[in-house]
Amino acid sequence: MAKPQINLSAISLQDQERFWNRIEKLETGCWEWQAFRNRKGYGQMSLQGRLILAHRFSFYIHNGHLSSELFVMHICDNPPCCNPAHLRLGTNKENMQDAAQKGRMPKGNSHPFRLNPSLIANYGARNGANTCPESVARGERHWTRRLPEQIKRGNERKNTILTPDLVCEIRAKRLNGYSQQRLADEYGVDRKTIAKVVNRETWKHI
Ligand SMILES: [Zn+2]
Repeated sequence: MAKPQINLSAISLQDQERFWNRIEKLETGCWEWQAFRNRKGYGQMSLQGRLILAHRFSFYIHNGHLSSELFVMHICDNPPCCNPAHLRLGTNKENMQDAAQKGRMPKGNSHPFRLNPSLIANYGARNGANTCPESVARGERHWTRRLPEQIKRGNERKNTILTPDLVCEIRAKRLNGYSQQRLADEYGVDRKTIAKVVNRETWKHI
């Protein structure tokens, strides 16, 4: 059973107190989150049995509204900062543009082509199997028959799509309002796979 979504209008005084206890106001003007931060440096706090990004929590309690469709962006470019004066709303597009300007666009292993190899699966029929199908080892000649002990399983498989990092990313994006379907499309996995990750039916140890 999926847990219910976070209901921002039900934030209690105790929740707010937990928030303030974890904030340190710096001379720079940033209000930095002192508790758990995700790998991108954003503060995370638990709320109603789920996780919420601390700066989104801050935006809500200071502005009284927050649509799950919108991103809360940092004007100060300091991810743990929760100062509402340093936060503004943005669309997904603005968020991407902002990331590009600040040099945070994915490269190397975080590039979508690496994250989602299925994007390039049909990237031209340059592979020998397409041009010379008769030369492809099949049946008893296939390496999996000749060298069965070399078959990699589970996490060793190079084409395993989800990794611990991706699981964290998916959960964080879900908290940021991405729909399960959108995440499924983005990461090239089934929506049910996303649902299980988000609801911690799989990858429970993360
Ligand atoms: Zn700041």
